[in-house]
Amino acid sequence: MALCGRALQMHFSASRHFLKTSAVYQKRHSSENVSCKSKASSEAADHVLYTQEHFALKDSLRKLIDQEINPFVDKWEEEGQFPAHRVFKILGTAGFLGVNKPVEYGGLGLDFSYSVAVAEELGNINCGGIPMAIGVQTDMATPALARFGSAELKKEFLLPSIMGDKVACLGVSEVGAGSDVASIKTKAVRKGDEFVINGGKMWTTTGAQADWMCLLANTSDGPPHRNKSLICLPMNLPGIHIARKIDKLGMRSSDTAEVFFEDVRVPCKNIIGQEGMGFTYQMLQFQEERLWGVANILMMMEKVVQETITYTRQRKIFQQPVLYHQVVHFRLAELQTEIELLRSLLYRCTALYIKGNDVTKLASMAKLKAGRLARELGDSCLQYWGGMGFTSDVLVSRFYRDSRLMSIGAGADEVMLSIICKYMDTLPRK
Ligand SMILES: Cc1cc2nc3c(=O)[nH]c(=O)nc-3n(C[C@H](O)[C@H](O)[C@H](O)COP(=O)(O)OP(=O)(O)OC[C@H]3O[C@@H](n4cnc5c(N)ncnc54)[C@H](O)[C@@H]3O)c2cc1C
Repeated sequence: MALCGRALQMHFSASRHFLKTSAVYQKRHSSENVSCKSKASSEAADHVLYTQEHFALKDSLRKLIDQEINPFVDKWEEEGQFPAHRVFKILGTAGFLGVNKPVEYGGLGLDFSYSVAVAEELGNINCGGIPMAIGVQTDMATPALARFGSAELKKEFLLPSIMGDKVACLGVSEVGAGSDVASIKTKAVRKGDEFVINGGKMWTTTGAQADWMCLLANTSDGPPHRNKSLICLPMNLPGIHIARKIDKLGMRSSDTAEVFFEDVRVPCKNIIGQEGMGFTYQMLQFQEERLWGVANILMMMEKVVQETITYTRQRKIFQQPVLYHQVVHFRLAELQTEIELLRSLLYRCTALYIKGNDVTKLASMAKLKAGRLARELGDSCLQYWGGMGFTSDVLVSRFYRDSRLMSIGAGADEVMLSIICKYMDTLPRK
């Protein structure tokens, strides 16, 4: 009861903020006489997926990004870490860390299309690292907990993550197992009413700052798809060692850790859902992670194209703007077309997903296409900036570095191709 009261109170305060900012938004825009409609409602009228509420949510998040995040991004990129607790508290208080999570645990209780809208808007943050860490918190480390976790676990881990009081990380990849998730070696052995965990995790986003990890571990010696469980693991337990913060090509403001477990004892009740179902839960969790990633990079790609148009319009070579050379404006038109195609696939996929369909094939296609397009787009746009594109001062070079991860993380391109081939029934038979 105490939980429900507190959670509802928190939910209403978050919703109140959202509704208040929406109301302010509506009022301001009605006075601008945009065909007698607010901007949000006219945008929504032409949209295949988003309603006025989606646009109001996006608008309010955009203001928060401009005020609370973007002014500090360069500093955090330089420092190699952003203050996750501070940023998440701001986002959590405003209701953005659980838009599709249950109301009784502080979420807004909306469907996954709102999460996609938030992911898109987070693409306005001037780097890839911070949105990625926010995505880990909202759509990578917590979907399985929200769907299958016990009320006690949700109270302890989900509610404070939605409110921005606890930082979450996801422990799936290991030194010897990334693409091949089934071959992870970390073991959780039952001893009485506790698991004793030994092993380690690699590439853990926000691992150096996290309060808890959604850990995938082997809990029996059975077949690899049936022997794994997801466990909520507090990161302050004895035997957890953060071995190092990994120095990376991009995503520099997001800390990426290597974590070791040495006889870490955690209560068996910290298991999410059913023992042995961890692999299946993680595969489900991956669908939201992949769609979230596509939505997030879409906005970044659009922003890079727009900045390239602005720069090449004012930069003159051979007595005319760089943009006026046909090869340049044609290429940018081609890239914008590809962005729109990807956007259509994302919205179709999201619409099917919220109706309860299995979108594994389409989500894998969208993730594959997003990775490929981001690489092409980053390379093409950077080229038109000339020497300026090779400096650290411009968004295009940061995008070029950050977006390279899209073809590797959350399942590499080749993993996406294997999934698509499975659905096409074209994989060689054993
Ligand atoms: C910055 C960053 C943040 C990350 N954050 C997290 C996190 O928070 N939590 C987490 O669990 N993991 C995280 N990861 C790990 C990420 O998901 C893995 O890097 C990814 O799954 C690939 O695994 P791997 O690096 O072990 O590559 P490997 O599995 O060794 O694969 C190497 C390459 O082999 C190729 N390949 C794969 N499968 C096939 C195939 N079937 N046929 C042909 N070629 C193939 C691909 O090109 C792939 O890139 C992160 C990684 C990075 C770099």
